[in-house]
Amino acid sequence: MWSRLRNSRSTIPLLVLFMGLSAAIATWSSQRTREEIDEASKFTLVAESLSEQLQVRIQADADVLRFVQSFAQLDPLRAATDFNRYLERSRGQGRSGLHAVALVRRLTPEALTAWQAARSTEPGLPPLRIHPLGDDPALHHDIIERVDPPLETEGLLGLDLATHARCAAAMDQAAVSGRASVSLPLTWTVAQDGRRVTAVIVALPVYRDQVVPEQVARRLTELHGFVVGLILGDRYLRGIFEPSSGAGSRKPNRELILSDDDGYDRADDDFRVGLFGGPALEGGRTSRSEFPVFDRLWALEVTESMPRSMTIDDLLARSSTTLPVAVFLVVALCAGIVWTLSRQNLRVQQEVKQRTHELNQKNVQLEASERELEAVNARLLEQSNTDALTGVANRRGFELQLEKERQRTTRTSVPYGLLIFDVDFFKGYNDRYGHVAGDEVLKRVADTLFAEARRIDCVARYGGEEFVVLASGTDATGLLAMGERIRARMQEAGIANEASPLGILTISGGGALSSVDPEHAPRPVFEVADGCLYEAKATGRNRVVMRM
Ligand code: GH3
Ligand code: MG
Ligand code: MG
Repeated sequence: MWSRLRNSRSTIPLLVLFMGLSAAIATWSSQRTREEIDEASKFTLVAESLSEQLQVRIQADADVLRFVQSFAQLDPLRAATDFNRYLERSRGQGRSGLHAVALVRRLTPEALTAWQAARSTEPGLPPLRIHPLGDDPALHHDIIERVDPPLETEGLLGLDLATHARCAAAMDQAAVSGRASVSLPLTWTVAQDGRRVTAVIVALPVYRDQVVPEQVARRLTELHGFVVGLILGDRYLRGIFEPSSGAGSRKPNRELILSDDDGYDRADDDFRVGLFGGPALEGGRTSRSEFPVFDRLWALEVTESMPRSMTIDDLLARSSTTLPVAVFLVVALCAGIVWTLSRQNLRVQQEVKQRTHELNQKNVQLEASERELEAVNARLLEQSNTDALTGVANRRGFELQLEKERQRTTRTSVPYGLLIFDVDFFKGYNDRYGHVAGDEVLKRVADTLFAEARRIDCVARYGGEEFVVLASGTDATGLLAMGERIRARMQEAGIANEASPLGILTISGGGALSSVDPEHAPRPVFEVADGCLYEAKATGRNRVVMRM
């Protein structure tokens, strides 16, 4: 597979792409790690800050309640309105979780009876339940006579708060211990919109003269009442997470109804302020901080929640996504360019190969046609030097050969001989036997010349019924013998020619040697032989005349 990959042309872009992807992932993961560390520390900082704010607010509310407690101990009979006026001033606007503060006085049996009577006149109210403190009926005191809202805009609390088990337990605890006591978390329903909020009751015991008796029994008998504060977790959350809510923007509280079925069923009894914002992020970070107020642990749990919405800008602002994407895009671009270039290169190479192949084929074809042309030319040359009727050389061929012989003789001083033959009374033959027969005679003469001459000699039809034999390297005797032999052969053939006085067809010849008459040079050999032929005709024909 590797060898195939190595050979493949797409390997380089693939490798580049792979490296780019690795670089992008490495960039992304390092970026991501850094961001995660940043986010984790940011989250911890935020959680710590929230916890501090919450602690400060709860502590401030605790101080308010303690102050009200000492105020009540100084003058327990003070009207509720005085508390309220004080509260209005002292509560940090928009910062407090205190929904209401009340002075709960111990009831005398007479007062209790009066209360029950008064209550029975109010239609729709459930029967008053009395929470006894200890076994002594005289110690009944826990009915919250009236819990005024600290501000006029706020709702009214129920009358019989103390009959709720958790509130009663807090009051009992406070009465027995002599110290402030915080109830287990309670669930309240906002009357108007049905929203449920979590709250606690803080009960602070009030003794006359600010002295807390040491013995429990005395604490119970000398107890004057309680300062009861209702603290809403909901409010703290709003105060912390919506810090802009100041004096003017604080909305009036709604009437709260203590739910009978307490939805606050946490396993532990911390007063936790829960989630505020979007739904919890699965696997998100959680931070929990605890701090004691009124001898009780208060806890803040901060859990990462889903972002409500994330815009494209937010997404782009997250460098952990943009930087690796940018790296990947650049590398992909490079890989694309490399790939395109390699593709182009491959195409060019293939084209060059194809063209070269075509060119080679054309060359082969050209060479073949050149060879053919050469053959044709050679054939044409041969044809141009050959006599069509007899197949021996024609006059042109003879002239060429003669020139060669002349040159050779000049070079080697070896003479050449020339014989010229002419058919006797051939005109008459044609007239008697026709031209076709005449042609046959010419062929016969050529054949005879060819048969009697040597291989190295040149036989040619000089024109009409005249033939020549060019004999290289010969002497007068040889040449004469050859001429005589040829003439005799034609005579022996006995071809009838009634135009001839002999009655048969004969030929006459003239011959000459190149060495002849050197003093009279440059007398051409041909002229000498022609002269001899004329002489042979003149002296009776059917003979060969030679001049030596
Ligand atoms: P002489 O003995 O003096 O040579 O008489 P002759 O008749 O042969 O001489 P002349 O030159 O008068 O005649 C030559 C004849 O050769 C004339 C022509 O008809 C004939 N001839 C020339 N060329 C050809 C040819 O190609 N074919 C044929 N059949 N006859 C030819
Ligand atoms: Mg002639
Ligand atoms: Mg003739």
